[in-house]
Amino acid sequence: MLVVMNAKATPAQVAAVADKIRQLGYAPHVIPGATRTAIGITGNRGPEGRDVLLMMPGVEDVVRVTSGYKLVSREVQPQPTIVTVAGTRIGGGFTVIAGPCAVENEAMIVETARYLTNLGVKLMRAGAFKPRTSPYAFQGLGAEGLRLLAKARQETGIGIVTEVLDVEGAARVEEVADVLQVGARNMQNFALLRRLSTAAKPVLLKRGIAATVEEWLLAAEYLMTGGNRRVILCERGVRTFADHTRNTLDLSVVPVVKHLSHLPVLIDPSHGTGRADYVPAMSRAALATGADGLLIEVHPDPRSALSDGQQSLDFDAFTRLYASLKPLADVLSVPLL
Ligand code: PEP
Ligand code: MN
Repeated sequence: MLVVMNAKATPAQVAAVADKIRQLGYAPHVIPGATRTAIGITGNRGPEGRDVLLMMPGVEDVVRVTSGYKLVSREVQPQPTIVTVAGTRIGGGFTVIAGPCAVENEAMIVETARYLTNLGVKLMRAGAFKPRTSPYAFQGLGAEGLRLLAKARQETGIGIVTEVLDVEGAARVEEVADVLQVGARNMQNFALLRRLSTAAKPVLLKRGIAATVEEWLLAAEYLMTGGNRRVILCERGVRTFADHTRNTLDLSVVPVVKHLSHLPVLIDPSHGTGRADYVPAMSRAALATGADGLLIEVHPDPRSALSDGQQSLDFDAFTRLYASLKPLADVLSVPLL
């Protein structure tokens, strides 16, 4: 259910309604809006309590939310979520996040951070803990990788996006990251999602390799149940019969998710195509779909990369791609953040 307060409702009335929802044994989620406040209710199984809430001062209406997910839905929050982080924002414009698949050593991560900062990119993504298909593949530098990411931020001021692999590792990643990434393979790691729902940092949730939109949004719902409102979705390609690209980048998901949810959506054309040559075209296409930004793999020397080199742009290619976004963003009247 969703309690819609009237435009003149006072903070005290909002607080009283939230208290009543708790007394009923449910959880209130206060959602301030441009003209009025709404209070999402979770934990209820039906409309019990609706009548008592309707009679409270300041309450305009109490409506049922028809979708399975509540807090992520447009029904509950019509205005788009804008996540402010690291001196920029995700949502309400186009945000480019870039960086190598993994932190490999100090020189390459600091060099990449410097390069991106000079270009105007505000967020660098790089994994310290890597979820690899093979147990024999490079697994990331772990705690040392986190230390190097902190160093790169200290030297350049760039914001850090990095992956949390498991519940046990969450606290130490949270200390360093500005944005916590949940990888495709972990999209339905419900223990991890619950843990991050109380994190003080935004969470970037990748779509699972075979996840429907409903499953993806329900995973995002887990992230919001503990009070974390700063959730960012990221489409990174799904598995289909097609084998001409590493995954099938589902750009059609953008208008669908925008219709169903207020959360920002990024596109990862690197994992989505698996080939550096294809990344620029799909990046520009992503901008045209109305996506909120990109997550792109960039490496100072892709041929020597320890993971995902074939899909990583070198600095020259990334510089060209970055420059090509501006005229397109202008035509579309989308602010490049
Ligand atoms: C990554 O971002 O490097 C990664 C492992 O992505 P995904 O979880 O989408 O496979
Ligand atoms: Mn990768």
